[in-house]
Amino acid sequence: MMQCRQCGSPLHKNILPDLSGLLDRFQGTQGIYSYSQCLDCKLIQLTEDPNDMAALYYHYSINKTKSFFYDFIRAVLIAPKYPQLNGRGVLLDIGPGDGWYMTSLQKKGWDCYGVELSEEMACKIRQQAKLNIFSIENINQQKFHSFFDVITFNFSFEHLTNPLDMLDAAQILLRKGGQIIITIPNIESLSFKFFVKNWFDLDPPRHITFFTKTMLADILIQKNFKIKSIVYISSANDIAGSLLYCFKNKFNKWPWYFLLPLGVLLQIIFKDSNFRIEAEKK
Ligand SMILES: [Zn+2]
Repeated sequence: MMQCRQCGSPLHKNILPDLSGLLDRFQGTQGIYSYSQCLDCKLIQLTEDPNDMAALYYHYSINKTKSFFYDFIRAVLIAPKYPQLNGRGVLLDIGPGDGWYMTSLQKKGWDCYGVELSEEMACKIRQQAKLNIFSIENINQQKFHSFFDVITFNFSFEHLTNPLDMLDAAQILLRKGGQIIITIPNIESLSFKFFVKNWFDLDPPRHITFFTKTMLADILIQKNFKIKSIVYISSANDIAGSLLYCFKNKFNKWPWYFLLPLGVLLQIIFKDSNFRIEAEKK
């Protein structure tokens, strides 16, 4: 039986009719998915964990090296939405994808480490991008306790089956006064309300939980962090993807590229697709 990923409540989940019968439109893996809302704590979450988590990421395009054109789009539209860290320090990036964010900070003088879900994935990215990537099990070593100045979850927190355990780990790995920076899709956003099933950021079954900003802030406070800021972040690629899903049942990068300029314009209206919360370890 599935338990709520926030409060542990075993039975009190209500399948959301608007969010059932969903397919993996981004990667096209087999399966039909739904989201439920916990009746106790109200967290919206994937009803059942996928059977084979690793299979969902085996051909995951986010982890692969990108075309020149995609690199360009990323530099112009996506990179400015990521945390812009000044100065220098030691960074831990949870879910680094192909490692571009770590690489960009290394160029600025940061000492960067990354964490992937499994040793197999960590190994793949380590070889591909020549970066310090650990699996979740291997990062939790004595030598890394109170070691990091900043821990980032850039669109990775929503992928975790055990997100609260990762916050406990972050609390141990950060130094006192270190920053945790979490950016996730905003289930309270206008884009979700408008697109519902077609919301690009739903991305079943890889997106498992949708914490609201209030929920996440409360948890961080409980786990001995002090909230520094909460901001909304618009996303042209989210809007372009959502528009694409209104017409097509499968993601395809060319129509998505074509819709991006419209996404850029519509960001003026759909301002709150994601939010970012920054907190400090007390
Ligand atoms: Zn709950």
